Amino acid sequence: MDRDGTIAIIGAGIAGAAAARRLSEAGRRAVVLDKGRGPGGRMATRRGPDSLRFDHGAQYFTARDPLFAALVEGWTARGVAAAWGEPSGGRPGRHVGTPGMSAPVRDLLDGLDVRCGRAVGRLVRDGRDWRLAEADGAALAEDAAFSAVLLTCPSPQSLALLAGAGHDLPGVAEVRYAPCWTLMLAHDGPPLRDGPVREDRDPDATIAWIAENGSKPGRQGGGTLVAHASPSWSRAHLECEAEDVAGRLVSALRDLMPLGDIRHRAAHRWRYAAVERAVGEPCLFVPGSGLGFAGDGCLGPRVEFAYLSGLALAERVLAEAA
Ligand SMILES: Cc1cc2nc3c(=O)[nH]c(=O)nc-3n(C[C@H](O)[C@H](O)[C@H](O)COP(=O)(O)OP(=O)(O)OC[C@H]3O[C@@H](n4cnc5c(N)ncnc54)[C@H](O)[C@@H]3O)c2cc1C
Repeated sequence: MDRDGTIAIIGAGIAGAAAARRLSEAGRRAVVLDKGRGPGGRMATRRGPDSLRFDHGAQYFTARDPLFAALVEGWTARGVAAAWGEPSGGRPGRHVGTPGMSAPVRDLLDGLDVRCGRAVGRLVRDGRDWRLAEADGAALAEDAAFSAVLLTCPSPQSLALLAGAGHDLPGVAEVRYAPCWTLMLAHDGPPLRDGPVREDRDPDATIAWIAENGSKPGRQGGGTLVAHASPSWSRAHLECEAEDVAGRLVSALRDLMPLGDIRHRAAHRWRYAAVERAVGEPCLFVPGSGLGFAGDGCLGPRVEFAYLSGLALAERVLAEAA
């Protein structure tokens, strides 16, 4: 691995952003590529008609680790994040990005070389370097050869890239994710009873989580609900059409709460939502090839864990170059 070379980071979620920020602070050049329209990954906010907004991925994040807690404190002081409700029952407080969930990721990536709308389809070894290509083989970021490639996309997507390059990162294939169908709904009925969130931990429930999106700081609009179907229901309906799923989830929601006139409804499928089995190490890195893997697949299904994993991978790269 060239110790001064440019590093490609695939994925502009919180893990990729954490790695990119740390590498750039240490004076390394990093290029972040993401197939999405903007950074954030699963920390996402979807726009609907009439200025409606729904945080349809991660609902909130907690901060148990002192390092991450200090970062969240800084975000809160600068208006990039805010507390959502008061901590209760001895559990750590909930925080959200403001004005949307991707704000903390955007903040980490501020001023860095981030290229969205770039779906990396292949990794191509070129001597001691790596080049990136689209799935059809067309060169991507063709101006650059990379000394290391850090994969921060969910493990099935990372595995596909590794397989295409004829490389392996032991552990990546072991990661398992639960899918999640999400309903975004705007209605004119009363708010949820007993507070802005309703959780159901029964594995056989259709709907596992309902949140009043408008109750989060910096959001507008009463009657905007986000409902997550349970992992078992999401699995059973994984290949259904979004419109069909939206209809079924609205029916399930009506059994749980009164709904008024529906102004908007849409469903979004997350194929890789919550990690069910993680690697159990902060990150994976093979110095010889310069290939690494980070994200919630390493430590578990939390924003905080994904951040710490991305940071750990950057530290591994820097330690290798020291
Ligand atoms: C419905 C839902 C609810 C959740 N609720 C919570 C919660 O309340 N609290 C919590 O802490 N966590 C929650 N999570 C989990 C949390 O969102 C994730 O753990 C965390 O955001 C993962 O970050 P990441 O950087 O590892 O991955 P991601 O955010 O998934 O980032 C990976 C990025 O890689 C990109 N990518 C993939 N393939 C390619 C490719 N070939 N080329 C280029 N780019 C590519 C993707 O576009 C994506 O932006 C939830 C997740 C979901 C889906």
